[in-house]
Amino acid sequence: MQPYGMRIAAIQKQMMAQQVSHLILGPSANLFYLTGLSPMPDERLQLLVIPAQGEPALVLPELYRTMVEEAGGGWTLYTWGDGQPPEQALQKLLAGVTKAAVDEQLWAMHLLQLLPFLQSAQLVEASQVVGEVRMHKDSQELQLLKKAAELADAVVPWVIPQLHEGITEKQVAFLIERCMREAGAEGISFRPVVGFGPGSADPHHTASDLPLQKGQMVVMDFGCKWKGYCSDMTRTICFGKATPEMRQVYEIVLAANRAGFAAAKAGTPCEQVDAAARKVITDAGYGEYFIHRTGHGLGLDDHEETYIVAGNRRPLEEGLVFSIEPGIYLPGRFGVRIEDIAAMTPEGVWCLNECPRELIEVE
Ligand code: ZN
Ligand code: ZN
Repeated sequence: MQPYGMRIAAIQKQMMAQQVSHLILGPSANLFYLTGLSPMPDERLQLLVIPAQGEPALVLPELYRTMVEEAGGGWTLYTWGDGQPPEQALQKLLAGVTKAAVDEQLWAMHLLQLLPFLQSAQLVEASQVVGEVRMHKDSQELQLLKKAAELADAVVPWVIPQLHEGITEKQVAFLIERCMREAGAEGISFRPVVGFGPGSADPHHTASDLPLQKGQMVVMDFGCKWKGYCSDMTRTICFGKATPEMRQVYEIVLAANRAGFAAAKAGTPCEQVDAAARKVITDAGYGEYFIHRTGHGLGLDDHEETYIVAGNRRPLEEGLVFSIEPGIYLPGRFGVRIEDIAAMTPEGVWCLNECPRELIEVE
């Protein structure tokens, strides 16, 4: 049951400290973290119920029995057949519930099915008890994150020779995904952001049918999953010759990325990493065009605790993994973002990405 037994024990400790009587998880990164199981989310109710004291239990449709048995682990399992909702199991598992921490990713239709059993319970978000534990990655998790980062690192050098006038944002997004999947990734960790020219000034741009033109900045933000763990990186290149202004903006963002890494030291509050990166951009006169926080935690989810944002005084501790992704976005014109993943280790900050960061002009 390793490492799941240890993780469940750590979660139960958090639950006791916060008087949470039950943790209720659906198919999600939380469920995978605590069981290694990743059933496909659909309209069928699938749960892991962990009491503050005692044994966890799985409630799954009968069709997942083989998956659970093959995974081993000796789980207490309640299965149910299509058309026979697991009312009795729910009654039993949720008896005596006073405060339930509920998976943020549990579908509303399933929470509604559970509500009759939670009438007298206080409901809180599962991240209150799971987030703190998941945030601190062990060395094995760091290795998986590194592998996911390596798969992402290979993308930009592979895509660049395939860029040509007329290729669309959607086609580049497909190339990005293909590169990572052919190298063995299970899939993408989020829909790739590909923006040409004005699209590059839109931080979460949806890749469109717009064709690439000479002289455009190209933002590519993407990541994949390796054994459940995510990568996430952004590179900005220029298709053709960069104007002096483009080059200047690029150098400011690169300096901000480096300042963020330089500030990431053990014990430093997260908000200071944000402040260090932001200062570079503000001092250069572009503060109003850096319109998002500097970073987010990364692990089994692409965005998870903790956040590199003003107001987050949490000190950087060993095992924390997060993005540093400053950007400047000039509406309707162009944008630049440079994102890498940082991991806190006993030796200091470790940048998981090795893809070069200097401005590339594709001739
Ligand atoms: Zn990203
Ligand atoms: Zn990111």
